[in-house]
Amino acid sequence: MTQEPTETLEFQSETKKLLDIVIHSLYTEKDIFLRELVSNAADALEKMRHFNLMEQEVFDKDAPLEINITVNDKENSITIIDTGIGMTRDELVANLGTIAHSGSKTFLTSLSESAQKDVNIIGQFGVGFYAAFMVAKRVRVQSRSYQLGDTGHEWTSDGTGSYTVAPCSGLHRGTKLIIELNDNAKDYAKDDAIKRIIKQYSSFVPFPIKVAGETVNTVQALWTKNSSEIKDEEYSEFYKFIGNAYDEPLFRLHFSADAPLAIHSLLFVPKENFEKMGFGRMDPGVNLYCQKVLIEQHSDTILPEWLRFLRGVIDSEDLPLNISRQALQDNSLVAKINKVVTKRFLKYLDEQARKSPETYLEFWKTFGFFLKEGATSDFTHRESIAKLLRFESSASEAGAVISLADYVGRMKEGQQEIYYINGPSRSAIESGPYLDAFKKQQIEVIYTMEPIDDFVFSHLGEFDGKKLVSADRADLKLPEDKDEKKEEAKDHLDKAIVGSLTKWMKEVLAERVKEVCESKRLVDSPAIIVNPDGFMTASMERIMRASSPDGPKDFGAKNLEINTGHSLIKGLADLRTKDEALARMVVEQIHDNAMIQAGLMVDPRSMVERNYQILAKAVQG
Ligand code: ADP
Ligand code: MG
Repeated sequence: MTQEPTETLEFQSETKKLLDIVIHSLYTEKDIFLRELVSNAADALEKMRHFNLMEQEVFDKDAPLEINITVNDKENSITIIDTGIGMTRDELVANLGTIAHSGSKTFLTSLSESAQKDVNIIGQFGVGFYAAFMVAKRVRVQSRSYQLGDTGHEWTSDGTGSYTVAPCSGLHRGTKLIIELNDNAKDYAKDDAIKRIIKQYSSFVPFPIKVAGETVNTVQALWTKNSSEIKDEEYSEFYKFIGNAYDEPLFRLHFSADAPLAIHSLLFVPKENFEKMGFGRMDPGVNLYCQKVLIEQHSDTILPEWLRFLRGVIDSEDLPLNISRQALQDNSLVAKINKVVTKRFLKYLDEQARKSPETYLEFWKTFGFFLKEGATSDFTHRESIAKLLRFESSASEAGAVISLADYVGRMKEGQQEIYYINGPSRSAIESGPYLDAFKKQQIEVIYTMEPIDDFVFSHLGEFDGKKLVSADRADLKLPEDKDEKKEEAKDHLDKAIVGSLTKWMKEVLAERVKEVCESKRLVDSPAIIVNPDGFMTASMERIMRASSPDGPKDFGAKNLEINTGHSLIKGLADLRTKDEALARMVVEQIHDNAMIQAGLMVDPRSMVERNYQILAKAVQG
């Protein structure tokens, strides 16, 4: 057999860029290089454990699953050996010569976004294998795959433009990393330094990590222990390990169940929301285990997508150990676990909202959006999610929030429905015409200020048996107001005049409105746009228009309601008989103003032009 030659290959350009940043950054926390390499070794061991369970034929079947680290302070090197799945020649090239994996990619994207302002964000992501070059002048990776046909190879590089790959005989299964330290990183060639870092970052790695033959990590599945035996610091360390996190968890839920399913689960809510901070969509962060064996890391099946901000572990001994990843997707047991854990977590949040409202509020501000996403997408848990939603309202202080249950608790006698109105801000809502009727009768209105909110309410449909109704609906059924009748008779326009005025206004506005009618709800405002079909609120319409600029522009004409007690409308009825041309312009302007207050678009140019004409008339007297 002819020996393969040593090949020299170029790094992919993205990789070069990353290596350049890693090597030249002033990043001070060089310690994390070891965490990254140990976590790769642990990943390779997890995969090996999985293959063993699948009862495949593998190379070196009986090698114990562990990580061995030794240092050589004469040669200034560190050697990390794992008995994981190893890599073939092609895998060495693909995995170490290019960046196809998620961590480093995210890092690069976020780095270009933050314009290298803060190199310390390296620590937020970990740059994976390349972190080795923070401390190494050369790295050698000797690896032999678990696959029976493999013969072993060595990959070497000094972290600049290229690397070499050559055959390497006599290897055991797994990977041996030889790190030849830089002159300024010699301190790492000491057992104590290595032990300290392992304890700090890797104590929950579920395989023995031996430094000079001595096991230094605490191999334990924290989630299977009794919560009374676990200290807060242990939880917090575990969170940092499992979530690759640097913050403290905001909430944690540790629970076990025997029936209907045997589940051990430990879930954390982080403090920070990177998705909100603009780092792109989060990957799910909960790992699925069966009897302490990792089945799927960052599982996207074990919890609903909208819970992707959670970090932690779900372990169920009811799952078949040797289940393949594909089979997980349509496994009915997985679906059941998903449902049980989600339900339990939502109940936990509800308890927290009661027990520690301030922390819950912090949670709501950071992660509330995910719950709203759940309310619009997850039919199963819709009702439990609804209890957890928070909004400002006409009864809340600015910036403070209420729950739907708070609202229902103080509904007025005779009030059947829950009312909400959308607007860009509290002041915009409060200065608009929609609150008039509600203020008059002292009925609370929820302010929905996020674009998604009206979709949430429309999906929920009702809460506690009460319909959720947008205050811009034409057919509001407010409780009877007893004083209303008398007032109306006094200073509102005459019935006959109203009839002819609205008919004429409809002629002026033509297709721009469906109907013009007398309003029963207005007090201070002259006119209001309301929604005759009641399905899509103005806010939803706005989003639909924005999200499909080429889509249908016509979402159904609205009704214009006029306040026949308002001086402007009364004056208009009069003006119509004196200067019809001007009166027509006033009608159009009233309509445009009402549309603007509804948050719907009007053509600004023709509106401004008309406005000047009206102003010109006004200054002429
Ligand atoms: P990540 O761990 O996020 O995938 P890394 O840069 O840390 O990124 O590693 C790149 C890839 O190299 C890994 O996904 C894995 O396929 C491979 N790899 C690294 N170290 C090992 C190892 N000790 N054993 C087997 N494969 C490894
Ligand atoms: Mg890694």
